[in-house]
Amino acid sequence: MNLSSLLHLQPPSYGRKKNYEFGPDLGTGTYGTVKRAKALDTGEDVAVKIILKKTVKGHEEMVEKEIGVLKNLSHPNIVNFRDWFESRDKYYLVFDLASGGELFDKICEQGRFTENNAATIMKEVIQAIEYLHSKNVVHRDLKPENLLYKDNTPDSKLMIVDFGISKVMESEDQVLTTMCGSYGYAAPEVLLRRGHGKPVDMWSIGVITYTLLCGYAPFQAENDQQLVAEIARCNVVFHERYWRDVSVEARDFIKCLLRAHPEKRLTATEALQHKWITTETGTDVDLLDNVKEGFNAKRMFKKTVRAVAAANRLRSMTRSPTNADTSSDEIESSSAQQQQQQQQQQQQQQASTGIEVTQQQ
Ligand code: ADP
Ligand code: MG
Repeated sequence: MNLSSLLHLQPPSYGRKKNYEFGPDLGTGTYGTVKRAKALDTGEDVAVKIILKKTVKGHEEMVEKEIGVLKNLSHPNIVNFRDWFESRDKYYLVFDLASGGELFDKICEQGRFTENNAATIMKEVIQAIEYLHSKNVVHRDLKPENLLYKDNTPDSKLMIVDFGISKVMESEDQVLTTMCGSYGYAAPEVLLRRGHGKPVDMWSIGVITYTLLCGYAPFQAENDQQLVAEIARCNVVFHERYWRDVSVEARDFIKCLLRAHPEKRLTATEALQHKWITTETGTDVDLLDNVKEGFNAKRMFKKTVRAVAAANRLRSMTRSPTNADTSSDEIESSSAQQQQQQQQQQQQQQASTGIEVTQQQ
């Protein structure tokens, strides 16, 4: 224990907190909350990721490593890290604000969406990943929620955020064995706990590309075990109803990424040289209707899940010891209602995509 914690003093960097005026939450992640704030010296809006030290207890070096990684990165498609400080019980990581919203939301707002639009988006993502891989950094949690637009201008850059579980690989062939990533986007070797390296990001890029072109994810299962089995079998199906207007090159690109063996997947550099990315071979068909249908169902479903979680949080906060019995009954009946609501949403989503959907999407 150091002197400042013995005296219950704040760490020295805590003084920098007064340089920021904190605003509303932008999102909640695995380790804490991300808040909007204003940097008082420049007047710029920023995003501050707040990590509770108790959630990383015993792994404080993970946060320090994340800070070390972030400080050394500079790429137009990777969110810029500005500053950090800590209190007795929290870490604060300050980033440029990406104010243009999530990738899928932005696509839904557009009037048209073609294969070539998808290829342009994926090119930006892969260029950023090629840069990260050249620095021996594996992102490990690539998914649409971590792809945000920098601002609201029509030609805004797409930014990769969330390096919470990335790790600098000490050597080229070091295999990382921590379970990470998100179901649905995680590579087979991650789910099977066989360790993983850079190819896990390429798998996620394959899943994102598939989802961008049809609106639903390539692997869907009822439970964790089924999902693991489905992903490990790695049988990618292009359902005729949704894929008939998509080019052979796009399907080939996806198949070259969704390969069970990590060493057989395209690397980021190879993916950037694939015909689907380099030439405008994609069809000019507007895919927006299909894609929107799937994304909207998914957004509605996510919203319901979030609303249920928020309602449960609120209920557990307002529960007082004197009416504990009645309130717990209320919680049960309300969560039954919410479950029903969730099921309805799920059925709606299934009906609209023709594909079964699980909460793990
Ligand atoms: P976690 O590792 O806990 O998942 P993230 O870094 O992904 O945390 O942040 C959680 C959410 O906060 C994101 O999905 C996004 O909605 C929002 N967010 C994160 N970084 C930024 C940023 N720089 N600008 C705007 N919103 C952000
Ligand atoms: Mg995240």
